[in-house]
Amino acid sequence: MQVRFVGCGDAFGSGGRYNTCFHVTGQNANFLIDCGASSLPALRRQGIVRNDIDLILITHFHGDHFAGLPFLLLDAQFSRRTRPLVIAGPRGIELRLTQVMEALFENSSKTRQRFELSVVAVEPEQPQNFGAIRVTPYAVVHGESGGPFLAYRVEAEGRVIAYSADTEWTQTLIPAARDADLFIAEAYTYDRAVKNHLSLRTLEAHLDEIKPRRLVLTHMSDDMLGRLDTLGYTTASDGMIVEL
Ligand SMILES: [Zn+2]
Ligand SMILES: [Zn+2]
Repeated sequence: MQVRFVGCGDAFGSGGRYNTCFHVTGQNANFLIDCGASSLPALRRQGIVRNDIDLILITHFHGDHFAGLPFLLLDAQFSRRTRPLVIAGPRGIELRLTQVMEALFENSSKTRQRFELSVVAVEPEQPQNFGAIRVTPYAVVHGESGGPFLAYRVEAEGRVIAYSADTEWTQTLIPAARDADLFIAEAYTYDRAVKNHLSLRTLEAHLDEIKPRRLVLTHMSDDMLGRLDTLGYTTASDGMIVEL
């Protein structure tokens, strides 16, 4: 299994990084976790075959995690995709996807796709299988609008990948990421408390309860990006690959 950090930036383009988009591939797995606004150019820059992607998991409806979908769907249509595609995300995703498509490309939500598109809402702590990939969402805490907010624990090919999504500290991150082969965790700030987000200090205080086999920090603000050399943790960068 391989996880590629197609984009690992925040909503503000900190460090010139692309918005959140992770690409997971294995023998039978080919899926994205999140699809932020800049994801199509990021995928193209990294030479990723978009039409081989079977599944896109969305954590929440903020633009830096979700707003790449209209571009990706247009790209699929114009590049004559035939492979079915599943987009799964929090409750309300069908409506939110229609809204963002209409806002960005009028009438695009009404276009008949050449491929089968399924949009699936998932619920916290209700595991769902997508082919051989088992996904368990967990509710996380990230403010009033743009939710529901989900972290994901994904089991595929004997490996567990967990992603915190954007969240302040919440106990659900423990079952979401416990003993994961890879825990991708937001570390928005170093030690400064920012509402609805996670600082590295706060995350650190709970790592004993989570015990991930590997940890990669993502969604970092300028505060974190200025300290990369001294953190002592693996930090994501656009294009970085982790083999599991
Ligand atoms: Zn974000
Ligand atoms: Zn967010």
